[in-house]
Amino acid sequence: MGRKIFERTIKRRLDFKIVTQGSILVTLFALCMCFINLYSNHIQVAAINGVLAVWFIINYTIYRRYRKDFHITFSLMAGIYVLMAYYLFTGGVDGFSILWLLMVPPAVQYCFSSYYGEHFSFITGIVIAVYMWSPLYELGYQYSVTYRNRFPIVYFFIAFICNVVQHRVDVLRSRQELLIENLEYANHTKSDFLANMSHEIRTPMNAIIGMCELILRDDINEEVRENCFNIQNSGRSLLAIINDILDFSKIESGKMVLIEETFNIASTMNDAINMAMTRKGDKNIEIIVLIDPTIPKGLVGDELRIRQVIINLLTNAVKYTKKGCITVKVTQTRHDYGINLSVSVKDTGIGITEENLEKLFTSFQQVDTRKNRAEEGTGLGLAISKRLIAQMGGFINVQSTYGQGSEFKFVIPLRVSDSEPFVQVRDADKTNVAVFLDWKKYKHSEIEKNYRKLIDELGIKLKVRVRIFESFLELQEEVESGKYTHCFTAKEEYLENTRWFNEESQKCQVVVIQDKMRAIDLPETIKKVYKPFYALTFAAVMNNEKYMAHVSGHKTFSTRFIAPEAKVLIVDDNAVNLKVAAGLMKPYNMKIITADSGFEALDVVAAKDYDIIFMDHMMPDMDGVETTRNIREMRDPYFQSVPIIALTANAVSGAREMFLGEGFNDFLAKPIEISLLDRILRTWLPKERIITASTVIREEAEKEIAVVQQEAVYSGPVDFNQGLMYAGNSMESYCEILDTYAGSSAAYKESLINRFETEDWNNYTTEIHALKSSSLSIGATKLSELAKALEEAGKQEKYDYIKDNHEVAVSLYEEVVNAVEEYLTANGYLQEDTIEAAEQDIKKMTLEEFAGYAERIQEACENFDGMETADIAQELCAYSVNGIVLNEYFKKVKSHADDYEYEQALEAIQEAVKIVKEGK
Ligand code: ADP
Repeated sequence: MGRKIFERTIKRRLDFKIVTQGSILVTLFALCMCFINLYSNHIQVAAINGVLAVWFIINYTIYRRYRKDFHITFSLMAGIYVLMAYYLFTGGVDGFSILWLLMVPPAVQYCFSSYYGEHFSFITGIVIAVYMWSPLYELGYQYSVTYRNRFPIVYFFIAFICNVVQHRVDVLRSRQELLIENLEYANHTKSDFLANMSHEIRTPMNAIIGMCELILRDDINEEVRENCFNIQNSGRSLLAIINDILDFSKIESGKMVLIEETFNIASTMNDAINMAMTRKGDKNIEIIVLIDPTIPKGLVGDELRIRQVIINLLTNAVKYTKKGCITVKVTQTRHDYGINLSVSVKDTGIGITEENLEKLFTSFQQVDTRKNRAEEGTGLGLAISKRLIAQMGGFINVQSTYGQGSEFKFVIPLRVSDSEPFVQVRDADKTNVAVFLDWKKYKHSEIEKNYRKLIDELGIKLKVRVRIFESFLELQEEVESGKYTHCFTAKEEYLENTRWFNEESQKCQVVVIQDKMRAIDLPETIKKVYKPFYALTFAAVMNNEKYMAHVSGHKTFSTRFIAPEAKVLIVDDNAVNLKVAAGLMKPYNMKIITADSGFEALDVVAAKDYDIIFMDHMMPDMDGVETTRNIREMRDPYFQSVPIIALTANAVSGAREMFLGEGFNDFLAKPIEISLLDRILRTWLPKERIITASTVIREEAEKEIAVVQQEAVYSGPVDFNQGLMYAGNSMESYCEILDTYAGSSAAYKESLINRFETEDWNNYTTEIHALKSSSLSIGATKLSELAKALEEAGKQEKYDYIKDNHEVAVSLYEEVVNAVEEYLTANGYLQEDTIEAAEQDIKKMTLEEFAGYAERIQEACENFDGMETADIAQELCAYSVNGIVLNEYFKKVKSHADDYEYEQALEAIQEAVKIVKEGK
């Protein structure tokens, strides 16, 4: 019963901090009373107060240990009631102890809230009144009539006042609770809004960035490449802003979760520096990196967030520095829990005024906007950095002199999982390094000072003998004596003494450090290293390892492995996203199947032959989480083990944990980053499916003999071996591609001829462009080249060239198609297909039924719904209407829809509808 009351009221209402403070006060009071009564020789009263103090102390200790709120409340109340009874019996109302008695109503009220407190106080009052006003009182202390009459009344009065006050407190408290509830609701709504907004914005961003990636991989001219690259870059900037806003709101609502993992500072710094170098472009500033090589190799922390902060500080430094240098210093101090990592970024840029320094870490604050107008940014970077660092248990500060530069520095504590230094030089004692630099060229003394420091530190920390030469003559003399194993210099110094360095490079390893943006070609014997030159690059040279230089400018993508045997299912309700995801995975040569809803996904996975499933999160009717849950609940062990990767634009906090908790194996944020996709595929695809570059080379070598033999057989217009190689050496996928190529040939040829005859050059150029890439992918190089020439002619409006060569192209195309069909038959592919087609009954459909289909397909096409259009077209291919076999017409529609050529698809539909309706 007591516990029930407790659970219903106290648990909800009591502030246990106050209850415990109350018990401490009561204990102190009891102790005081004990000593006072001891002093005045009232031994009995002193004893009861002493016992009570001990009772409270014991209960308080138990409470501290076990945190039983119920216990502390009841022990307090029990103590007070026992004392009250004792004083009532022994004459407390008559003396100083009345204080104890009058303390009961407020304590009861407070502990049991106004409602139950009222009952307790009332019952206690009745018990007191009965005792005082009945002959029972004769049993204890003999009070005077005045006290007997007054005490119960005073007690009731105090209980009443306490009740009124408590009632008021309760009302205020429930109002406060309501307010908090509303605030929580508002905050929740804000988070929901952010989650949805991020999803809504990131989904089209996914399409924009992904489509650009697809275009960039195509054979396009430089101007289009440049424009497309700019769109992609702007898309990425916009995405970075969205991510910043999301990060900030996550931190604000306390939902930012740090994920601790073991990491190596080498890769963190490498990424951050590459980013800064790209950002720097050809700005004339030096980035000097002083990193302590003895920092442990295995650190434990949230690497992603640490990198985010470093990148923010570095990009700010690059943004706000026009000349001079940026010095990045990474050091450590050892402690028993691990290390304190300190990162400082110092620049010789515009600096910050004292008054602005105060505003720096507040959100949405861009200081000195007049001067910095040209610089993009949200003013959130530093606010996020400060909060992230604080959450990691560290601090960040800034020192700046206006007009001279700033230094941002943060320190964070990190645990250590592997205390080996993160970079070491093998056989350091056998190396002897000469460094030749002409300091005069550095007009900024800061640069010279920092480079000297860097070289000295490298020598000391990596235990390598390093000597700096300032005079070329001295260098010549010393190096020629054969004492040095390595000689480092910079591009300018090399250019001044090229002959000597080239000659010396035969005897000692000459290393030339240069800026990637202004790099020159060097002889093979000379090693080139790109700036910034620091511990990692230095050790890589000394250990003869390849160092991953930063990639700047237009990145070209190349997959590092293929998996032709792997089968992938992508589930997304958005057709464009499906196309982007499938397009990004195309270079891996995997078999890609798509599903546009959770229901369809459940149907297709039943085949149990997928190696990996990419599942979109938000889909109508059955979302990704539910679909995954349903898959995991299926009987066969396959469904519990097949890797399911959440594919989502919803990157709000906790998403990762939520997905892992819901049965997903991993998480891939949209827009899809290729490097992350690569990592996911590598991690989750069965190892035996992955063919890395080295495997391909080995297999190619093995196949060489076979290729030579086959060449005689296929010496026609198609280099099938080349085509097979493009298809990842998977015969099955190659035949599929060839089949599609041959299958669409009739419609394509007809359309091409039609464009030629009507002199529709624009569309002719577009069509011939498609022929160029499709022919190349099957190995029909000659045809592809001819198509390329025709395409160029079309673009340059040289129509005579087209007129002269069109026929040649068409007959070559026919030859290619014939060769392809022969090849397919020879490999038993077409035969099977034809048998299948023959066996397949052509079903009949009435004209009314056809009209319904025609309406649906037109609508789908007008809505740019490529998937739906292709599906209906595919379905129609199996029917005939009034003796007209629809396959002939709708195959073409499907092929256009598959290529997202809606205009052409619609034209083809209308043409087919016309023919069917006219019954021709
Ligand atoms: P933003 O996204 O605008 O760069 P930040 O929070 O990173 O936002 O920076 C806030 C402001 O602090 C910037 O607008 C700039 O005025 C100032 N600032 C940051 N770093 C530097 C720096 N290294 N030198 C001078 N000013 C800086």
